[in-house]
Amino acid sequence: MHEDVEEVLISEKELQERIKKLSRGISEEYKGRCVTLVGVLKGCVLFLSDLLKQLKIETNVDFMMLSSYAGAQSTGVVRTILDLKQNIEGRDVLIIEDIVDSGLTMNYMLKNLKTRGPKSLEICTLLDKPSCRKARVPIKYAGFVIPDKFVVGYGLDYNELYRNLPYIGVLKRSAL
Ligand code: 5GP
Repeated sequence: MHEDVEEVLISEKELQERIKKLSRGISEEYKGRCVTLVGVLKGCVLFLSDLLKQLKIETNVDFMMLSSYAGAQSTGVVRTILDLKQNIEGRDVLIIEDIVDSGLTMNYMLKNLKTRGPKSLEICTLLDKPSCRKARVPIKYAGFVIPDKFVVGYGLDYNELYRNLPYIGVLKRSAL
């Protein structure tokens, strides 16, 4: 375990097993269709790549980068930093997110992508922190529901560090 991590909340094995199950459900739901996976950078990278490898359907991948966080604090104001390269009109779109916390980022993203006329638009998040919700978001696929703790690892950062940890962990107070 990394020296700055106080507790491993979700182990590497638990992550991989849950992602396998999620990918089975998604492959079943979108059978015979091509799904456009929209990854929300940068937190989605490990989740998206592990999920993608397991999917048994035709896929298209694109990315968006949004910003609302500075360190461990949400600013509450969401901005688009990097937009999609593809046109999603008439496409089945599945947003791939690392964590839904206040829901403000996903709320912004749903509103933004809906205006582009996708055939369908759903959310798949690795982690769901429902106790912090400020905006209602319809989550179709959630890997794990977690308590109100600031987590890092498996793509999630604290000031750009810890994304490489293969598990989801909670940082020691001294590291924050
Ligand atoms: P929301 O808009 O739902 O509050 O937050 C969404 C984004 O905030 C996530 O995509 C993620 O980048 C960041 N975030 C929210 N909670 C956490 C957390 O516990 N740990 C980390 N590392 N990032 C978080």
